[in-house]
Amino acid sequence: MKAVQIGGLVSFTTIDYPGKLAAVLFLVGCPLRCAYCSNPHLLTPHDGEYDPERVFEWLQSRTGKLEAVVFSGGEALMQSDAAIEYMRRVRDMGFKIGLHTNGFYPETLRRALDTIDWIGLDFKATREKYPDLTGQHIAYDNMIKTLDIWNATGKDFEVRITTDPRFITKSDLLEIAEILHTRNVANIAIQKYIPHFEDENNKTDSAAREQFFNDSALRTKIESMFKSVTWRE
Ligand code: SF4
Repeated sequence: MKAVQIGGLVSFTTIDYPGKLAAVLFLVGCPLRCAYCSNPHLLTPHDGEYDPERVFEWLQSRTGKLEAVVFSGGEALMQSDAAIEYMRRVRDMGFKIGLHTNGFYPETLRRALDTIDWIGLDFKATREKYPDLTGQHIAYDNMIKTLDIWNATGKDFEVRITTDPRFITKSDLLEIAEILHTRNVANIAIQKYIPHFEDENNKTDSAAREQFFNDSALRTKIESMFKSVTWRE
């Protein structure tokens, strides 16, 4: 089997796995091309800058200090069995396994349900707007399948919505919240879109970016629908 391809690593974080000290591995490759992607260098599959065996040895040195390892990307599940096998090796060291995912590979996730403890799932827009935002027509339907597969496990997770005002309105946000509420999702995070300084094409004005966060009626309504709503500004 091809070795897992790792394009980045964060050695310590308190915010990427709820309540746990974690490291993050960024796996290369992603099937989407989101307009606001902050990791364009990770999208095209390549060998990766990190030797997976050396990362494995480093993780061994972190046992007892870190509690979890989060697989991010790109989209980690694009590497399919190579990613799952690596996750299993890391889990066998005693770490909890987290996954940040765009939900594009529900059947791959299904094969890894025994291995992954927690996911952060992107819900990027309404179904109509997904193709414009991500460049993929089936991304929404795949993401919903992923949501339903994971939800059925009863394990903890968070659904993240990034409020890029070019692709999401307040009414879209409420529509998404209703979909998640109907599915009994407990935890959501609403993330402010922050344009990257090098991204000249994606300028939005700050009033448009703030509109979701300074509307107290909207916040109250959404907060009434979930156990926990995190507003990431
Ligand atoms: S899913 Fe994430 S990594 Fe992939 S293109 Fe979109 S923002 Fe970038």
